[in-house]
Amino acid sequence: MSIKNKITEYREKLRKYDTRLIAVSKTKPNEDLLQAYEKGQRDFGENKVQELARKAEELPKDIQWHMIGHLQRNKVKYIAPFVHLIHSVDSPRLAIEINKQAVKNNRSIACLLQVYIADEETKFGFSEDELLDFLNSEGFGNLKNIKVTGLMGMATNTDDQEQIRREFANLKRISDRIASEINSDHVSMQELSMGMTSDYIIACEEGSTMVRIGSAIFGSRNYPTTQNTQA
Ligand SMILES: *Cc1c(COP(=O)(O)O)cnc(C)c1O
Repeated sequence: MSIKNKITEYREKLRKYDTRLIAVSKTKPNEDLLQAYEKGQRDFGENKVQELARKAEELPKDIQWHMIGHLQRNKVKYIAPFVHLIHSVDSPRLAIEINKQAVKNNRSIACLLQVYIADEETKFGFSEDELLDFLNSEGFGNLKNIKVTGLMGMATNTDDQEQIRREFANLKRISDRIASEINSDHVSMQELSMGMTSDYIIACEEGSTMVRIGSAIFGSRNYPTTQNTQA
């Protein structure tokens, strides 16, 4: 099925949940993104700074770019002038750097704090305690040029649907807790970025406001390293 049809299909599926579609276009060529664009898709997610910055330069200016992958502090400057939302703020040091670059660009940058909800060693993010400590800290209060609009989390890569559901429900609980305990003019818990191709329905049922869907729309990704090892 074409990318255009997939965009329509997923929009339709998400409608009843009131969840926004972030089309995850990493590794895909501009032509593929333009197919989605022609169907009205404006929110695109990328996980590499260079690729995101290049596509932003080459593609229509009304696209809203979402940084969804682990972000290194020394690369924030390349996306700070234009990024729409950074989903993957996973440490206080990164938040400080984003704030610094936001000040330089004379803008406010919307951020989601990434929370570690999975039962895996490899996922980045704050624990619940770290998150509360950070939001309550004096240092955070000084980061006036970032606006925390919600949380992002990734569930464990498992077939156990109930485990995935528990992890998403836990993220929703943490979000509700912050909404009631943190009173700051640059925090508002409006967004919950959770759910990808394999688990987006569970995420929607547990309160996701943005799903990040890649392979279901654009097809599977070919990473050069994987191809080489298989050859
Ligand atoms: C690649 C990626 C996605 C999309 O994954 P699919 O399984 O292709 O839908 C979602 N979130 C993050 C953080 C990603 O890196």
